[in-house]
Amino acid sequence: MTNQQRGKLYMALYRTDAIVLGYRNLGEADKILTLFSPDKGKIHAVARGVRRPRNPILAGSQLFSYSNFLILEGRNLDTISQCEIKESFYKIRQNLESMAYGLYFAELLRVSTPLEDKNQELFRFFLKTMYLLQKWENIEILSRIYEVKLMAIQGFAPELFQCVGCGRKSFDKIYFSTAMGGILCHDCHGKDTKAINITSDTLNVLRKMLMGTYEELEGLRVKKYVAEQLKDVLDLFILHHVDHKLKTAEFIKDVNKLNIGNSK
Ligand SMILES: [Zn+2]
Repeated sequence: MTNQQRGKLYMALYRTDAIVLGYRNLGEADKILTLFSPDKGKIHAVARGVRRPRNPILAGSQLFSYSNFLILEGRNLDTISQCEIKESFYKIRQNLESMAYGLYFAELLRVSTPLEDKNQELFRFFLKTMYLLQKWENIEILSRIYEVKLMAIQGFAPELFQCVGCGRKSFDKIYFSTAMGGILCHDCHGKDTKAINITSDTLNVLRKMLMGTYEELEGLRVKKYVAEQLKDVLDLFILHHVDHKLKTAEFIKDVNKLNIGNSK
């Protein structure tokens, strides 16, 4: 965009729905919010004065809040002028485990999405995930489903139905290659020395996660060793695509350690 074009846009107002994905503090009382909007994609906007009590846009600037925003376009940064809350998702913030996963889901979305890249399907998917995060029984499984589906919507669906080396569809042994983007048979697994051996149970769960809707997957039961394999495979898969160590993944580990401590 040229400076002249920027000049023309200056002071324009627009209205959009959006979810708060994150923020950082600015000056003494402001925050720069990272918003995710169905019409605009990921955007940044300043929320003035929201670190002071009784600010009119305070509630809408909370993490994960879903609101309708009125935003003033600026030369460099847009500024939120009003907001009307549609869903505060306060239940997510009330519980340490769902908070940790909410932060992780938001961070994964942030780092895998370019600025101002409108994607309504991705928005609907993320909003739905946040609703489910409030009530899903096994959040770790929800997290694996979210990872698989998020990558698929972003255009990185793994090939799970034939060997990415030779096209074979039946397997004695199965390997998962993040570099090659899918499964490898025994004959081909040498093509990626980092490919991980997985069981047919794990492959079946991965296929269900990729193909099934959230409604179909709610209540999905997964054996412990399968859950561990899924985590190993998807951690590498995510790292390969987002090329970014995720800060919130560490937070989840800490929270899970706490939970284990509590159950003893
Ligand atoms: Zn093969």
